[in-house]
Amino acid sequence: MEVRTRIAPSPTGDPHVGTIYISLFNIAFAKKNNGKFLLRIEDTDQTRSHPTYEQNIYKSLKWAGLHWDEGPDIGGPYGPYRQSERLDIYKKYVMQLVEEKKAYYCFATKEELEEMREIAKKTNQRSGYDRRYRNLSEEEVEKRLKENQKFVIRLKVPLKGECVFDDEIRGQIKAPYADIDDQILLKSDGFPTYHLANVVDDHLMKITHIIRGDEWISSTPKHILLYEAFGWEKPKFMHMPLLLGKDGKKLSKRKNPTSTFFFKETGFLPEALNNFLTLMGYSMPNEKEIYSMEEFIESFDPKRVGQSGAFFDITKLEWINQQYIINNLSEKDLLEKLKNWQFNDEYFLKLMPLCHSRIKTFSDFIELFDFMFIHHLKYTEELFNIKDVTQDQKKYIIQIIMQLLEKVDTIKAQDIDKISKDVAELLRVNHKKVIMPLLFASIQGKHQGPPLFSSSEILGKDRVRARFLSAIEFLGGISNKKMAELNKLLERNELYTIFEKKL
Ligand code: GLU
Repeated sequence: MEVRTRIAPSPTGDPHVGTIYISLFNIAFAKKNNGKFLLRIEDTDQTRSHPTYEQNIYKSLKWAGLHWDEGPDIGGPYGPYRQSERLDIYKKYVMQLVEEKKAYYCFATKEELEEMREIAKKTNQRSGYDRRYRNLSEEEVEKRLKENQKFVIRLKVPLKGECVFDDEIRGQIKAPYADIDDQILLKSDGFPTYHLANVVDDHLMKITHIIRGDEWISSTPKHILLYEAFGWEKPKFMHMPLLLGKDGKKLSKRKNPTSTFFFKETGFLPEALNNFLTLMGYSMPNEKEIYSMEEFIESFDPKRVGQSGAFFDITKLEWINQQYIINNLSEKDLLEKLKNWQFNDEYFLKLMPLCHSRIKTFSDFIELFDFMFIHHLKYTEELFNIKDVTQDQKKYIIQIIMQLLEKVDTIKAQDIDKISKDVAELLRVNHKKVIMPLLFASIQGKHQGPPLFSSSEILGKDRVRARFLSAIEFLGGISNKKMAELNKLLERNELYTIFEKKL
């Protein structure tokens, strides 16, 4: 049987390094076994999916030098490979389960679901759905369908017993069915849920090995139930250790740079990033730390995949990148890479309007634009000195601006201009005296510089976010608890209180 693996990203945000990390292991396993690796786009979340994000997934995988044998952009024998184009397929399969009484129509309204949640909370029960539509008579279902009542389709999860499966990396895993809700398979908008679409597609696309992050392990029993309900052969599962941030939690953009574009724009070599990412989840037989993708594939053995999460240590990544520069690039190659990176007309042309009237000699250019190239800005206490504003308040302000900027896909000068003014209003502080100095300090690492908003647009969202994160860290960091408090204040429009009392 041909080994077939896949990566199945959802186009719901910036392209995450985790997608490259998981792809590398899927590629290694497929190639080691002369198999195929395919790319499937899981865009069933209509509100969060966006074609731009899908394009960014291709861009980021291509930048990393990864190739797939089948995918939405190149087709293949089991297409389409974009889930939004496969809705009829999911409907057909879910109806099969309804007919076989393995799934059922659920007509619970928003109010009913809310009520169930309240009751579960009060009685300290497993929160979730109380299965009230599970045993509706056929006539009753017919009647409600005729009345055009809104519905979802749910899976009948066994009430007793447990799901036991072998994970090729983690060993035997057990999950009591009583802990699993009757999963929604088809949503009221006619779109499938992740569980249904993922299982149907993995089966139809003949995936033999599912290699994905640990965070999906709790979904696996639900998927196994579906394979059993359909009477399909189950693939093998391998759950990979998660990439962890400094806080020991799953690497998240709220605390670390995670977008592939950040690494590209900061000047990392994709080969070095790939090497680093494989090292996060794998140990080579000779404990080698620097190796090529070919060596990695050649040596690949799932038994050598780690079990516990791996800290995403950017200092280590920098060290690996340096090894690649020293050992793999001639001086001439290095020059080419630098030109491709940011010493090119395209990038410099963007800078011209910002320096045209601001330099006396050409050498002023470097002083003006150092922050456009530097990765580690040198923050100092003095830089963040703002009259009457405490350290805490400064980091909270930066955090709020950073959060509000998340709402835009690409930063335009007018976005950061508007958002920073909105924040000034929300906080009831002076934009010019408080917000602007903080922004200059965090983004440019100086008190003054070329126009802040336009230069932020050129730096791009990923680098601006990374700078905000570094500035917050420099100012002492924000605990999750404080972050939650801040969000509450933001929701209630009471952010200004951080200037009256301590959070
Ligand atoms: N769409 C899921 C994701 O965003 C796929 C998870 C899986 O590999 O099953 O990662």
